[in-house]
Amino acid sequence: MRVCVIGTGYVGLVTGVCLAKIGHDVICVDNNESKVALMQSGQSPIYEPGLAELMQSAMSAKKLKFTTDLAAGVAHGEILFIAVGTPALPTGESDTRYVEAVARGIGIHLNGGYKVIVNKSTVPIGSGDWVRRIVLDGVAERKAEIAGFDVVSNPEFLREGSAVYDTFNPDRIVLGSNSYKAIAMMQELYQPLVTREFGEDKSLPPVPVVVTDLSSAETIKYAANSFLATKISFINEVANICDRVGADVTQVAAGIGLDSRIGKRFLQAGIGWGGSCFPKDVSALIHTADDYGYNAELLKSAVRVNQKQRYLAIEKLQQTLKILKGKTIGLLGLTFKPDTDDLRDAPALDLIKELIRLGARVKAYDPIITNKNLEIMLATSPEELADGCDALVLVTDWQEFLELDYAQLAPVMKKTVIIAGRNCLDPQSLETAGFTYIGIGRSGHILRPKAIAV
Ligand code: NAD
Repeated sequence: MRVCVIGTGYVGLVTGVCLAKIGHDVICVDNNESKVALMQSGQSPIYEPGLAELMQSAMSAKKLKFTTDLAAGVAHGEILFIAVGTPALPTGESDTRYVEAVARGIGIHLNGGYKVIVNKSTVPIGSGDWVRRIVLDGVAERKAEIAGFDVVSNPEFLREGSAVYDTFNPDRIVLGSNSYKAIAMMQELYQPLVTREFGEDKSLPPVPVVVTDLSSAETIKYAANSFLATKISFINEVANICDRVGADVTQVAAGIGLDSRIGKRFLQAGIGWGGSCFPKDVSALIHTADDYGYNAELLKSAVRVNQKQRYLAIEKLQQTLKILKGKTIGLLGLTFKPDTDDLRDAPALDLIKELIRLGARVKAYDPIITNKNLEIMLATSPEELADGCDALVLVTDWQEFLELDYAQLAPVMKKTVIIAGRNCLDPQSLETAGFTYIGIGRSGHILRPKAIAV
């Protein structure tokens, strides 16, 4: 099928590349000229495992093109994806101006046959009908005759860091629309994914496709992210209780996660959730609830717990080092999670700001971030980072940090304190390597008689 993807960020570029890989003819449109020039030269503007290779092979197979020309993209696609950003406004609601600009642009350029306009951006509940109206405004501006179109909500659930894998191995595909014709076209588009032709395990049953109305599809996206964020805030709250009563949250999480009603994922206590999606999606759902006269108390608490959790590493540093003024703190990792270069709303940014406010000197080492205009010293290796530090804080659970030889770091440090902010390091090994280990909700790890095997 002929596809146009508008907006080539983490979602749009991965969607465009993967749809080209499964056999569709894809044009990706972005209004950022330098980004488009980079992609036309075969380079990916973002880091996502496997993406650059797939992108280059789809371009060589002439299945994938990049342009800044929206008119050309709209003329090409039978299916037009809107995948631009919807960041949060200071009020917590979504900033939909980019979606609005694209919807109007589609309307202005709409011509040829029937088109399906797909909202892949995470948009406020009710945006499907709003997009339809804006497209029609664009059409009216040009006084054009059009063959008709329908709007589909097709929320995206990919995770940064495994976006390509997730696209080929989705848990489900959600399609919201009141048009049978549009849904049928979307089902045809996704058929190779539904049958797992490109999936890791082809023997699995077909991917479930949830076909529903526009508002329910939009709500599914917000509810999914709000649930996952709340689950993390829940285990962080349990971790804080563990710290006080001398229990080990990793053992508690293992014990509750074995209950199939709970499940073990998203039960890793740490220094809070962040990134480009959870914070803004939870705020947007709270804001929508407020707009409709409902006080979303549980979600507001999940946000409050997370805000406090982000500063927990500082509290633990103060308890151990006392005065932070004049101390040197090294951050292992900056991104909000491993395998991405995304720094949007990363807990590291709050940590840096607060440590600097308290008079500490902050250094950081991240395997992918080498220059992002951060006002701190970026080390080029963990060894360079550790040199002269009073403490290390593990901020991001990159694989590299799980495999580090910490015994090599301890001798070059002024004091050998490590705050294991993601609970992904073994306390005993760290202590053997010469560190004072401080985890999140792990004050009981020493007392543990025997770990639960999971
Ligand atoms: P992004 O900021 O990485 O990318 C947006 C892209 O849109 C940019 O390349 C920008 O140049 C382009 N753009 C903006 N206005 C444009 C216009 N008028 N015409 C053409 N291009 C334009 O955003 P993202 O992280 O890919 O997120 C996109 C949407 O998907 C958001 O609504 C987000 O909530 C949702 N989402 C993101 C993720 C994720 O992991 N990042 C996961 C699921 C859903």
